Amino acid sequence: MNYAPKPNDMTALIEADRAHVWHHLSQHKAYETVDPQLIVEGKGMRIWDARGKEYLDATSGGVWTVNVGYGRTSIADAVRDQLVKLNYFAGAKGSEPGARFAQKLIEKMPGLTRVYYSNSGSEANEKAFKMVRQIAARHHGGRKWKILFRERDYHGTTFGALAACGQPQRNADYGPYPDGFVEVPHCLEYRSQYPDAESYGIAAADAIEAVILREGPDTVGALCLEPITAGGGVITPPAGYWQRVQEICTKYNVLLHIDEVVCGLGRTGAWFGYQQYGVTPDFVTMAKGLASGYAAISCTVTTEAIFDLFKSDAADPMNYFRDISTFGGCLAGPAAALENMRIIEEESLLENTQAMGLRLRDNLLALMERHAAIGEVRGCGLFYGAELVADRKTREPLAEAKVQAVVAKCMELGVIIGATNRSLPGLNNTLTLSPALIATEADIDRITDAIGQALTSVLG
Ligand code: PMP
Repeated sequence: MNYAPKPNDMTALIEADRAHVWHHLSQHKAYETVDPQLIVEGKGMRIWDARGKEYLDATSGGVWTVNVGYGRTSIADAVRDQLVKLNYFAGAKGSEPGARFAQKLIEKMPGLTRVYYSNSGSEANEKAFKMVRQIAARHHGGRKWKILFRERDYHGTTFGALAACGQPQRNADYGPYPDGFVEVPHCLEYRSQYPDAESYGIAAADAIEAVILREGPDTVGALCLEPITAGGGVITPPAGYWQRVQEICTKYNVLLHIDEVVCGLGRTGAWFGYQQYGVTPDFVTMAKGLASGYAAISCTVTTEAIFDLFKSDAADPMNYFRDISTFGGCLAGPAAALENMRIIEEESLLENTQAMGLRLRDNLLALMERHAAIGEVRGCGLFYGAELVADRKTREPLAEAKVQAVVAKCMELGVIIGATNRSLPGLNNTLTLSPALIATEADIDRITDAIGQALTSVLG
């Protein structure tokens, strides 16, 4: 088809999209009756669609990414300057923005020293998985090769990452998967039968120990967890959980891999989510907010001790990390990430996230008093979930159609919010809120006002 849309012909553009684009995570049958939505512009917290409608974005680009907001010309300038100077060189060579950004990042991550570049969250996680496997092969005689992951956590879309996926409908149909990925139970306290958070927290962590003992500690190499489970329900860890997890990892010599793809770069009000819990990881992976979506970049960050395991002399010529990411050498990534970090620091966005996060929490708790459908509010910083229930006593999840109707009503009111992905049968009932770290009090109030109106409109 010879299709040449004129720049201003948005109807033609929408038809071009309908005819040729396969959207992520979408049931395209729906587009037979409604238009696909094209987002064409953004500034600060606001975006505009192809029809010119304005929205306040409470999702940071749909999937927790645009941490510093839209339309940042200083990031565009930094990227442009770097691309003009040198756009790319990969292989075994380093680069100017790569070295600068790694140094800056490491300043915020005490105990960690080494940054490995790639370009998506999935890929960053795969790198850590491969490092664990190579350590097992080269240093543990092939033992310690298993990687534990948690029910409800998500680590990406590639086969290794899907093997480590705690959301069943995300990885159904695409197997078989590589061996050696083993699930541990989730840590959502809401429907647990424990008398208090602390005893639940310890029990949830002990459940990980039980899996290690069942599998055999000498077979388990690493445990991969999100600091706060994101798409699986915004699950904040119960009291005592992380401390106990750390003890268990130390006891059984299991490397701790923390997936900060969502929580990293300020989302929770700290540079990294794990820093809220005083944990010492062996691997930290990050992507989304790392360059706020201005360039594709991800990092696998680790310790000097791990790095040293890959150094040896001619006696073992295979013992280096035999991995490359072609576009991990694309220099727009670290150039954008460096400017992104500068903005977070200079505009005190961690402090803003903490303050606005408290307001978001207070507003949601106030909504909870007026709307019985809100069963629980969970989160930290500018990262919140409001779990919707059909009945507060039984905690039965609200039907997905109703949750989606609340999201759609907010959109109609000009506010974009999210909901936990449709991969959790019966548990796709949590509204998710992750506005950019630049959100103001007025933005937060508008978001929660829209949710209140939507709840009234959908549920009465
Ligand atoms: N880890 C987590 C916690 C995520 O939420 C995601 C993406 N939603 C990923 C990893 C995968 O990142 P990407 O889509 O960039 O591969």
